[in-house]
Amino acid sequence: MQSAPDHIAALSSLTDVKGLIRDDDKASYLTEWRKRWLGESPLLLAPGTTQEVARIVSYCHQHDIGITPQGGNTGLVGGQMPHGEILISLKRLRQIREVSPLNNAMTVEAGVTLAEAQGVAKEADRLFPLSIGAEGTCQIGGVISTNAGGVNVIRYGNTRDLVLGLEAVMPNGEIWHGLKALRKDNTGYDLKHLLIGAEGTLGIVTAATLKLFPQPREMATAFAALPTAQAAVDLMALMQDRTGGLATSFELMSQQLINLVSTQFANLKSPLNSRAPWYALMEFSAGTPGGLRGIIEDGLSAAFERGLLLDATIAENETQAEQLWQLRHNAAPAMASDPASAVKCDISVPIHHIPTFLQRADEVVKAHTEHGRIIAFGHMGDGNIHYDVLGPEGADQSTFEAGRPALQRAIHDVVASLDGSISAEHGIGVLKRDELKMRKSPTEMAMMQAIKQALDPKGIMNPGKLL
Ligand SMILES: Cc1cc2nc3c(=O)[nH]c(=O)nc-3n(C[C@H](O)[C@H](O)[C@H](O)COP(=O)(O)OP(=O)(O)OC[C@H]3O[C@@H](n4cnc5c(N)ncnc54)[C@H](O)[C@@H]3O)c2cc1C
Repeated sequence: MQSAPDHIAALSSLTDVKGLIRDDDKASYLTEWRKRWLGESPLLLAPGTTQEVARIVSYCHQHDIGITPQGGNTGLVGGQMPHGEILISLKRLRQIREVSPLNNAMTVEAGVTLAEAQGVAKEADRLFPLSIGAEGTCQIGGVISTNAGGVNVIRYGNTRDLVLGLEAVMPNGEIWHGLKALRKDNTGYDLKHLLIGAEGTLGIVTAATLKLFPQPREMATAFAALPTAQAAVDLMALMQDRTGGLATSFELMSQQLINLVSTQFANLKSPLNSRAPWYALMEFSAGTPGGLRGIIEDGLSAAFERGLLLDATIAENETQAEQLWQLRHNAAPAMASDPASAVKCDISVPIHHIPTFLQRADEVVKAHTEHGRIIAFGHMGDGNIHYDVLGPEGADQSTFEAGRPALQRAIHDVVASLDGSISAEHGIGVLKRDELKMRKSPTEMAMMQAIKQALDPKGIMNPGKLL
């Protein structure tokens, strides 16, 4: 039987010197960005090739050593933090293997950041449409493993809809060469979907073939003040009807969120004079230039006449559009900068149930906490609301803190009553692991356990996460 130091020496010899993360660099890998989770690990490796990843995983499989894969460390549910496992960072797998504009596909390795992947597509006059606030840091392997959503889902789908093929190192160390670039392949179970959204529990993604789209030739970004959440739902339906489904984003933000962002970032303000309970940030894109702005103006006028909006503006240029997006992109950093304790719910319900969800959840919050601050925002076009409750401003957080689990559960009960999901896009990780068992049926849990057991019978891949 080998001792732990023997294993560390043997594993270290399976990568080159650049693949050994030095002691003075370890903290950034072992600290979640909000410092909500601190990890611990006997060894942090950053292998440089898929073959090196395979050799390391094979050794771990042989010796029952747990592994936590890590991408950009931007995950929000703690899945990327090791708790005694070795950490494998994919940051050195950075090759762009192929870009095929004719097949509208590109193959990139797992450590390429999302922003870099978008840039590679743009250079080929194509669009890789996945876009999230963390895109400068999160990596392709991470977005695939969390099935990231983001701001363009209404038009292009989640990450799951954007992956054609995968290469992955399976828990026994074998490499699965699944980098197909096909849009049709009905040859039995579609195995890539097991790894997408698996949060590193079924294998390590090392490369992916991703779908590309034509670059839009005209974009229009609008910001509107709305009287009610129901008006937001109706406005989205109206604008989609008027444009024939040209919306790429439809983000909902409450006045409380705008206030919080403006307090934390003094240069970010609503461009409208009117104050309203809700705001919508909408983006539309068209393949041919010329007519989009006019269609959006007509749609917003019709919405105004129907009482669906109080005021609205359309960005005149890219700089103005970017300023509008900064309000939305800084929601998570603004929340993180507030010192109060928080309940954070990343939920989805069918779009037409959003007003009911917001009303019932607000009632639940009022029943649980006297001065909790409700901050609701999110990708409304996908039925996805980030419903957060911050503890009372400046006051002692202990009472709020003690009631946090009960409050979260009560909000999730509202979600369940509307047939929704308690994790729309951030995943389960360690944060929602206990609740998953309560919310999934025994049949669903048994199916997920059976898949885990079949692919990773020794349970070495990201133990303690998801299941
Ligand atoms: C400001 C901000 C905004 C965000 N906005 C959104 C949003 O709009 N939509 C959204 O969906 N998410 C969002 N997120 C969450 C986060 O960015 C995503 O979950 C992202 O996909 C994680 O990618 P990552 O490379 O940082 O992965 P990590 O955080 O490193 O890892 C996440 C999970 O994937 C696993 N993993 C990572 N790489 C691999 C791999 N190569 N193979 C197997 N498993 C792997 C890890 O073990 C972990 O379980 C946001 C986060 C921040 C900080």
